[in-house]
Amino acid sequence: MTKTLHIIGGGMAGSEAAWQAANAGVPVVIHEMRPTVETFAHRTGHLAEMVCSNSFRSDDDEQNAVGLLHWEMRQANGLIMNTAQAHRLPAGGALAVDRDPFAADVTARIMAHPLITVEYGEINALPPEDQPTIIATGPLTSEGLGGAIAAETGQDALAFFDAIAPIVYHESINMDVAWMQSRYDKGETEEERTAYLNCPMTKDQYEAFIDALLAADKTEFHEGETAGYFDGCLPIEVMAERGRETLRFGPMKPVGLTNQHQPEVKPYAVVQLRRDNKLGTLYNIVGFQTKMKYGAQTAVLKTIPGLEDASFARLGGIHRNTFLNSPTLLDDQMRLKSQPHIRFAGQITGVEGYVESAAMGLLAGRMAAAEILGETLPAVPDTTAMGALLTHITGGAEAKTFQPMNVNFGLFPPVDAKGGRRNRKTRYKIYTDRAKADWAEWLGERESLAAE
Ligand SMILES: Cc1cc2nc3c(=O)[nH]c(=O)nc-3n(C[C@H](O)[C@H](O)[C@H](O)COP(=O)(O)OP(=O)(O)OC[C@H]3O[C@@H](n4cnc5c(N)ncnc54)[C@H](O)[C@@H]3O)c2cc1C
Repeated sequence: MTKTLHIIGGGMAGSEAAWQAANAGVPVVIHEMRPTVETFAHRTGHLAEMVCSNSFRSDDDEQNAVGLLHWEMRQANGLIMNTAQAHRLPAGGALAVDRDPFAADVTARIMAHPLITVEYGEINALPPEDQPTIIATGPLTSEGLGGAIAAETGQDALAFFDAIAPIVYHESINMDVAWMQSRYDKGETEEERTAYLNCPMTKDQYEAFIDALLAADKTEFHEGETAGYFDGCLPIEVMAERGRETLRFGPMKPVGLTNQHQPEVKPYAVVQLRRDNKLGTLYNIVGFQTKMKYGAQTAVLKTIPGLEDASFARLGGIHRNTFLNSPTLLDDQMRLKSQPHIRFAGQITGVEGYVESAAMGLLAGRMAAAEILGETLPAVPDTTAMGALLTHITGGAEAKTFQPMNVNFGLFPPVDAKGGRRNRKTRYKIYTDRAKADWAEWLGERESLAAE
């Protein structure tokens, strides 16, 4: 008899994982704590509830990485994308949906599946070794289960808040202004010495930056979402409120750095960016976690010399968010290395957003089903949106500074390093064409394996 797959959490990832595994012929039990136990953000007892915005973001599968992820999920008969299509609202190029009918419909489709059972109730312990399980309990994983996971992984490897510094595409940084250097030229290897980029500021630029920071619009924490951030990861605007010089003696200190474009001029302050992925396509702004609203954030950050034309792979934020240090804890099949009968999926793996969470559910569901059925799933190509995201969280990202990530083209192996900004549209089309061909081939291999 085929073993049953247990899935803890019936959100975006858990619902999609169940659908994929059941469609592969594996019986599934979803354990969902709502409506018995509630969270501060969910309002209903439906599976796959959208807790905030009703948008799955851009649906452009030629020029946008999240649109490409939609496309890949549709090709794989994704539950979340197919149901979203049925409840689509007019929203220009975005895929917005009528949220309650959408979630009710996902719930109905899951309930109607002959191989899926839903059991309501909170799970507070890790599953026994003979029970293949996917944990997809999301950013608001309940305290009991969070504690059990932390006991297994170690406290330092499970975060309960994210403190995200903005991430910039390397190609959009003006290297006629910025330069590459680690503080005091520290680092054993060339890679370490070239891990940092620096943007210099004069006194006037620094003062104007502090004024802009203090004046910028900020977001508040949600009701019930206590701040809980510590002095080690204060938002930059809070540091600026504590004193105009605080940042200059903190993340913007200029010591140990020499401007290679003007060695004789000592910068008054320096904004440092650190390489964020192995490919070197993404850089995060060191120590710049912030709760500035997105529009204000972009405007303020673009006043930094060298970042005037910056494109952001993701903007900064601080939220209640349970997530693992996946690059150290998970293997490339999303299994917990120390307990391989447990997979993780969704936002708890360190992806960010409804679509990315559902996408990781789709992969985890297929991987778990294949394992139960005694198959070997081919590696997901890192040229696809699915594979790029998976590769990032399970090894491509810097483990030391790992923070949740949206899908973006900076995660893909570059197609045309010399293209520059002028050719962005052409390049994105090359990325998406390549991804579509590779995803279709991967799905084809997978489907033909199942038919054998
Ligand atoms: C306040 C808030 C606002 C957000 N706004 C947006 C947004 O606007 N757009 C966006 O794209 N993303 C947003 N996100 C992120 C969003 O939650 C995730 O992207 C997405 O819902 C995560 O999917 P998931 O399946 O990983 O988790 P969820 O969809 O949260 O699903 C996890 C499920 O697990 C259940 N669960 C938790 N613990 C247990 C347990 N111990 N036992 C059994 N069940 C359990 C929960 O009840 C929930 O149903 C927001 C997150 C938060 C917290």
